Amino acid sequence: MKKYDVIVIGGGISGIEAASRLAREGKKTALIERSELGGTAVINGALKIKYILDFFKNNKDGTREELIEIWDDKLLDLEKIISLKLEHDNLDIYNGEGKFLSETSFEINGELLDTDIFIISIGTKTVSPYTAKIDGKYILTHENTIELEEIPNEIAIINGGIYGPELANIYVNLGVRTTLIDENQSILSGEDDDHIDAVRTSLIDMGVNIIEDTSIKDVILEDDKVRLSFLDSEDLIYEKILISDIKEPNYIEGMKEIGIRSSNGYIFVNESFKTNVENIYAIGDVNGIMNMINIATEQANRVVDGIFDIKRERLSYELLPRGVFTEMEIAGVGYQERQCQILGLPYKLGKCYINETWGGWTKVCNNGFIKVILDYEDNVIGLWTVGENVTEYIGFFSLIIENKTKAKAILTKLIISPSIYEAVKEATYRAMVSDVHLHNNMFDH
Ligand SMILES: Cc1cc2nc3c(=O)[nH]c(=O)nc-3n(C[C@H](O)[C@H](O)[C@H](O)COP(=O)(O)OP(=O)(O)OC[C@H]3O[C@@H](n4cnc5c(N)ncnc54)[C@H](O)[C@@H]3O)c2cc1C
Repeated sequence: MKKYDVIVIGGGISGIEAASRLAREGKKTALIERSELGGTAVINGALKIKYILDFFKNNKDGTREELIEIWDDKLLDLEKIISLKLEHDNLDIYNGEGKFLSETSFEINGELLDTDIFIISIGTKTVSPYTAKIDGKYILTHENTIELEEIPNEIAIINGGIYGPELANIYVNLGVRTTLIDENQSILSGEDDDHIDAVRTSLIDMGVNIIEDTSIKDVILEDDKVRLSFLDSEDLIYEKILISDIKEPNYIEGMKEIGIRSSNGYIFVNESFKTNVENIYAIGDVNGIMNMINIATEQANRVVDGIFDIKRERLSYELLPRGVFTEMEIAGVGYQERQCQILGLPYKLGKCYINETWGGWTKVCNNGFIKVILDYEDNVIGLWTVGENVTEYIGFFSLIIENKTKAKAILTKLIISPSIYEAVKEATYRAMVSDVHLHNNMFDH
């Protein structure tokens, strides 16, 4: 029986982060992956989707053929990054599924492994709650999008949460007749209305048909088409349907038998990402806390810190920077206006359109805005941007909120001019004096 300090099961972004650091810092580590290393972020989704979106942002007249020409080289680069991360003497990589034999032992490809600690990082998979199940032919997921192989003439994407609009953006870029369907009142539900309006308008201008506030009854395969039936309107027929963001956690044989508890199907963990079994942790999407790359890798690092007895404060999800990468991007950190209203938090709002600033003018940035939200003591509690490439600007803005930065401190700092940070200053000023002119655009008269 081979003995390890730590066995990490699942080689997605969280598993790779944990295994690579543990091995680098001296722990005898095994990483077990049933398919290709990289998971949803690297191999099956996030990064490739962002690359395709960026390709079309940077090449307005770009074509699928041009993209395919560079695609294979780009994918090889990804593989290189992964193997660089995993080149450590202390790390053994196993390919296969395996099963738990006990709280400290595991069987994989007929080999028995023993360990002090397990880290489970097996992620989730997209599922269809409808009669027609995912088949990669008529009922697709994001994994079919990045294959770039068969591009349909027509597609309907179910679910307008974050990734649905991004996928709609890609299909319309590829020249596909695209419909985006969301059962919520609007796509990107939960975002501030002006954020949603900006993305919705941009997608519609690009040619996406958006259906919101509806109730899907079922999705059924009929000959070589897919029928979508609704509770509140006529059926619609599409060539292909893509299901986005309806997920279920993956599973490892023997998990239940050794007593690992789950909640709503996801592995239950405490604040340190420990399961109810003393030496077993669960990180990333599989614990259902939040499905994002930064969360997955941060949880990995926190578990590794714990293994090395490094104490960390509780992870604060309120300060999570996040973005939507459609052509008109949304990015920000902290509270949005809608959240303040729902929570009954008193707030002051300042909004500045990017084309009100010198930076907006020089960068020919006609769209987008920056919103600063202050509490009534003029501490910054939210900073949100909508526009082209704005995901690049948020970076470490969470520090502004974490450090309880006062509006005045922002106003008295020197920033580069021209730059779009002029809009941050102006929005902060408008919030501070509550002198908000939402539609005052000095270049628009
Ligand atoms: C379309 C899309 C776009 C996204 N875009 C973004 C984005 O822009 N920014 C962002 O922050 N997040 C994004 N995300 C979310 C992000 O990709 C995930 O939160 C993150 O990749 C989760 O990583 P993970 O390591 O927890 O799980 P995964 O990446 O799912 O990795 C799990 C790994 O475990 C393996 N596995 C499963 N079961 C077993 C088993 N029994 N034995 C062995 N191995 C097993 C799987 O093969 C997989 O490799 C996106 C997600 C999607 C779907």
